[in-house]
Amino acid sequence: MASATDTPARPTPKDWILGIHAYVPGKSTGADGQVLTKLSANENPLGTSPLALAARGEAAGDPSRYPDPDSTALRQALGRLHGLPADRIVMGTGSDELLNLAAQAFAGPGDEVLYVRFGFSVYDIAARRCGATPVVAPDRDYGTDVDALLAHVTDRTRVVFLANPNNPTGSYIGRSEVARLHAGLRPDILLVIDQAYGEYVEAGEDDGAFELAATTHNVLVTRTFSKIYGLAGERIGWATGDAALVDMLNRIRGPFNIALTGQATALAALEDQAFVSASREHNLAERARFEAAVNALGNHGLRPLPSKANFVLIEFTGALTAEAAYNGLMQHGYITRWLPGQGLPQCLRITIGTAAQMDDIAAALRQMAEAAR
Ligand SMILES: *Cc1c(COP(=O)(O)O)cnc(C)c1O
Repeated sequence: MASATDTPARPTPKDWILGIHAYVPGKSTGADGQVLTKLSANENPLGTSPLALAARGEAAGDPSRYPDPDSTALRQALGRLHGLPADRIVMGTGSDELLNLAAQAFAGPGDEVLYVRFGFSVYDIAARRCGATPVVAPDRDYGTDVDALLAHVTDRTRVVFLANPNNPTGSYIGRSEVARLHAGLRPDILLVIDQAYGEYVEAGEDDGAFELAATTHNVLVTRTFSKIYGLAGERIGWATGDAALVDMLNRIRGPFNIALTGQATALAALEDQAFVSASREHNLAERARFEAAVNALGNHGLRPLPSKANFVLIEFTGALTAEAAYNGLMQHGYITRWLPGQGLPQCLRITIGTAAQMDDIAAALRQMAEAAR
């Protein structure tokens, strides 16, 4: 007979699952539930291509049928756009699914998954989910330090994650540094280059990731429709790499992992490269203007870290703290991303919004900085 003090038997989670802290998404409401302008999740301020929205409406026709399990038309279109063979492309329910599958396919208990401090928070989850040990290399002024990463490789390293540009820092390493990182890794270590913000990088600044994915056996590049394509709600990502890598991910991904509407919407979004260019141009112009406005507050201890992405991470070292700025901006109607949980209590990440929003935020930061004692 079970007594009141006995703990009833129940399923026991794996130790490595117990070590996971659930992903914390960017918020869209304030503490009192009021709806705020959301600049906390790096979504596209221009929304979604109207052509993609139209295609989405049409595709909504018959949801009683399964979608194409291989997203064939979408992979072919991606292949044409990027000059890649379609059979070297695998789709994921967001690049999030692919990052997790990459860790799961190549690492497990006793293995190590390596990334840089202030890397994307999903890497920690991906490593732990498969029972591997996350190993964190130190940053260099918040950015990726190739030497530090290479110094932390051990016999047990199986997967290295590199977000380039990185979230939440916005930092970026160029082609020669990426090549040096790859050259320094044993060929049995998988290098995952996460290019969620790859489309925001200017022409001529390409990091060479697609080339490495096409010509080596151990580089996987991930991309997403969530950021510049403005389709975060549809959950569509993709990856490219050696045929054997793509084969492994295809074996373990969800069999119908891209919904019917998602496939049609993404296909139309790809065809509207004018929307992508407009989004990139908007971001470059507004990011530069915002960085200049924050740089002008340098005497108040605000420093925008150099960003190649669609957000800026600001470091606060003066009287105005990141936490106070976060709360103050909330009172101005904006939700941004304060990151104490990622070891960055001194920093605030702000997604680049519309010109008017960025002017408003820059003015609010100035006002708060000047008032702070
Ligand atoms: C936003 C983001 C992703 C994209 O995730 P999805 O699952 O495709 O929405 C991947 N990596 C980084 C670094 C990101 O910031």
